[in-house]
Amino acid sequence: MKIGVFGGTFDPIHWGHLRSAEEVGETYRLDRVYFIPASIPPHKSGRTTTPARDRLQMVRLAVTGNPRFSVSTAELARPGLSYSIDTIREFSSKLKKGDSLYFIIGLDAFREIGTWKDFQEIFLLCNFIVTSRPGSKENDALKGTGVAVKKLFCYDSKRKHYRHRSGTRIHFIELTDIAISASEIRDLVRQGKSIRYLVPSSVEKFIKRRGLYGSRRG
Ligand code: ATP
Repeated sequence: MKIGVFGGTFDPIHWGHLRSAEEVGETYRLDRVYFIPASIPPHKSGRTTTPARDRLQMVRLAVTGNPRFSVSTAELARPGLSYSIDTIREFSSKLKKGDSLYFIIGLDAFREIGTWKDFQEIFLLCNFIVTSRPGSKENDALKGTGVAVKKLFCYDSKRKHYRHRSGTRIHFIELTDIAISASEIRDLVRQGKSIRYLVPSSVEKFIKRRGLYGSRRG
């Protein structure tokens, strides 16, 4: 089994996330992609996020009907900040012989990996699929990650991926640009504007029903 893990705040989940997971899943022939809502992301701790159960429910609604997609509560079930290393350890401990793990992440977020808790161990345990960000032409996964990360990899120009001494790889994929962000959606809802066609209709209905992002005001 090739297993993808796709973490995020998902506040709320939108078509950009879903299409990105679909293209990655198809390109790398992943058997499953787990969407993993973070409870308290270390890098977003300054902002109050929507209650975890609401973000989780939106992810559940959004992935319904896609046999490759699943939801994992691995991060929500753990107390405190959500560190990727803990999630990766948990997933990798459940792998069977021949299985491999792929961590799916946007290029912007991957640039920060050198600051993540135990990042050296992360590279031993899983492969990365780094995704392009809308509007950016940058296609080098390691650019801007810093020397502490770069020195751990060599580039295989034939196969077009980076390789770690442990055998794990960093792939880069150019996605269809879908320039949607969760913050834009929250702003639109706050202003009483439409979010139709930016999120699945089940998610749109849930936001209205629960009055998220100030949707009951005005
Ligand atoms: P916010 O606007 O609140 O920062 P976001 O829309 O970027 O949120 P996150 O939950 O932080 O969403 O993102 C989870 C992952 O999805 C990250 O790896 C991010 O790079 C990726 N991602 C977010 N938006 C898109 C998009 N439009 N296309 C492709 N990938 C995306």
